[in-house]
Amino acid sequence: MTKRVVLIGHPVAHSLSGAMQQAAFDAKGIDARYEAWDKLPLELAEAIAELRGEEFLGANVTIPHKEKTVPLVDRTTEEAHATGAVNTITKEGRKLIGHNTDVAGFDGALETLVGKQKMPRQAVVLGAGGGARAVVFGLIREGFQRVVVFNRHLHRAEGLVKFFGRSAAHMELRAMPWHESVIEAELSKTRILVNATSVGLSGDESPIPGELIPPDLLVLDLVYHPARTRLMREAEAAGCQVMNGELMLLHQGAAAFRLWTGEDAPLDLMREALEAAIAGRATSGEAAIIELASSGAPGDVTAGVAGGGG
Ligand code: NAP
Repeated sequence: MTKRVVLIGHPVAHSLSGAMQQAAFDAKGIDARYEAWDKLPLELAEAIAELRGEEFLGANVTIPHKEKTVPLVDRTTEEAHATGAVNTITKEGRKLIGHNTDVAGFDGALETLVGKQKMPRQAVVLGAGGGARAVVFGLIREGFQRVVVFNRHLHRAEGLVKFFGRSAAHMELRAMPWHESVIEAELSKTRILVNATSVGLSGDESPIPGELIPPDLLVLDLVYHPARTRLMREAEAAGCQVMNGELMLLHQGAAAFRLWTGEDAPLDLMREALEAAIAGRATSGEAAIIELASSGAPGDVTAGVAGGGG
């Protein structure tokens, strides 16, 4: 029987996950089909329940359903529990297990960005949505000692800090108001800057003015289309090393593929499929959608990193 893996979200029409996952299934000779299900919030519970059927291998969950999926599965993993969001579902018989592979995606991107340098211990995160939760959890688990979260609406950053509460008890996790002078002061004390806002996704805008960016930062922009955001260009001009969100998307997809199939993900091939899908989107002039679910695999991931000062 051909197994089914579905992406549940709204909208899902222009998802990049399908290209990447189907290429991986086909290359590995896995008889599975990846489908997109556009489901409204009211339809979510029924869609999740349907996954209990024998023909389903699992699912990805994307915007806006990641948080709402948590109570609909039978068990959540540490990452899903800690971030309060599920982006991948696997099966144990009829039981549904909720995972969050965005965390693994962030870990993979961070590791590549840092490369052979010593892992820094301080980071500034812009944004406090679902992506930021995966980032902050990844930083806490990596052993960062000081993480400052700036968000346009401060209460959401405060909510994020409160949410992590006990798991961040051993370190300093702070929410700060979105004032340029405060951001500038914090950037001068940090090594890593992560943009987890959606600014840059649908216009040539940066969340912060380029003048605030000191040289020598490692900058990760979770936005992956366009491939070089204004933040990345300005940070690079300031002397920073920069990376976009493609590698995070790829790695979270690879992690999902491994969870569904128990096999190593063909990372190079998935990246090619992902890049082709991104290029197709760019040439067709379609706006990028926020895509949080999906998967990726290993290989030469350094292509997404640009050297600073260049
Ligand atoms: P989300 O939950 O909707 O959060 C959006 C965030 O962007 C919020 O912090 C919001 O601030 C902020 N924001 C939006 N417009 C802003 C503006 N004009 N100025 C300042 N801040 C603004 O979305 P998400 O799921 O976290 O996704 C955020 C970004 O990360 C998206 O670009 C998404 O594609 C990307 N992402 C990428 C990956 C990957 O694998 N590469 C994974 C996850 C996320 P307020 O709370 O104040 O509205």
